[in-house]
Amino acid sequence: MDLSYILNELGEERSDYYNAIAPPIMQTSNFAFRRVDDLGRAFEDEMAGYLYSRGINPTVDILRTKLAALDGAEDALVFNSGAAAIFAAVLANVKAGDHIVSVHHPYTWAQRMFDVILPRFGVTTTYVDGTDTANFEAAITPATTLIYLESPNSWSYAIQDLAAVASLARSRGIVTIVDNSYCSPLYQQPIAMGIDISLQSATKYIGGHSDTVAGVITGTRAMMKRIFDSEYNNIGSGIQPFNAWLLIRGLRTLPARLEQVTRTTYKVLEYLKNHPKVERVLFPFDPEFPQYELARKQMKEACGLMTIICKESTRAEIVRFCESLQHIMMAVSWGGHESLIIPRCAAIKEEHFRPAKPEHRMVRLYVGLESPDYLIADLEQAFSR
Ligand SMILES: *Cc1c(COP(=O)(O)O)cnc(C)c1O
Repeated sequence: MDLSYILNELGEERSDYYNAIAPPIMQTSNFAFRRVDDLGRAFEDEMAGYLYSRGINPTVDILRTKLAALDGAEDALVFNSGAAAIFAAVLANVKAGDHIVSVHHPYTWAQRMFDVILPRFGVTTTYVDGTDTANFEAAITPATTLIYLESPNSWSYAIQDLAAVASLARSRGIVTIVDNSYCSPLYQQPIAMGIDISLQSATKYIGGHSDTVAGVITGTRAMMKRIFDSEYNNIGSGIQPFNAWLLIRGLRTLPARLEQVTRTTYKVLEYLKNHPKVERVLFPFDPEFPQYELARKQMKEACGLMTIICKESTRAEIVRFCESLQHIMMAVSWGGHESLIIPRCAAIKEEHFRPAKPEHRMVRLYVGLESPDYLIADLEQAFSR
């Protein structure tokens, strides 16, 4: 399906709402019925019609249709956060006694679910270095029902061979989930590589303006229906109509934003790689990146995130650099219009800071929509302090 068609037309029945270009925000909790039998049918299959907005809502449906098509998937479910999307997708595929194999260092709240919540219900997790597919094979036990992936990781950009892991999992009847937040469906298509559930934090590139928190999962209609009928409605964290509307608006400009971010990223990367105060820059489409070939094979492009490993030998120097930036703000998250920085040492106390450990000297930079010269000038004046 043509990308322009998906973003501008698909799912939008404009004649239903006065031919308005922008879709209505159907801000209603419930929908009325004239006939008892119609109400009865709505109870039987809540996914098939409009009954109650914790389940299905017309504004949210437009978004679901577009997001599913973007991923080349049969269906999509949209949540109030990426974390809720992770929670529902994982919970739907485990029961007491089951085992998960996860790539190591997944997103914080995925790891908290595996380490804190699931063990209370008898579900265990083994973490593996995902750069070698054989590590997944070795960790699988007869109880394994789920393989959890994140490719690339949003700090180290470590990548898993998605097609290889998917094929291994299929041969064992194991479900695969990949967190595709870094690439978005524009730069990586996990479903086409055989992954069962593709997941992303829509807070990042889909929203794109740092004003909405949301998450999305895509997959087969059967998988989405199973999750809808249980976890989606039971957790009750489906996206609200206004936030869905913001994401539809974000989708309109997604290709233009990603294109500009990508273009600027290469210029900033070049500047940083040649800077005397920078030891290394981690970025999956940099030819020096250890998994560059695999990145090129399974990703169309790379996005605005990179990690600087500073040469500075004290925590104070890294703190001074970050606090000297005048335009690039210090904040969590990414994917918005604004460039952001976040130093690893924010979570490391002075007495625990070890300059010998490169990960302690990591500073993650997200390149937004500002011009490259504007960003480079800001970085330069901060380095010079
Ligand atoms: C932000 C993020 C999430 C969580 O999404 P929220 O919308 O913040 O709940 C999950 N995975 C990755 C890789 C992220 O960057």
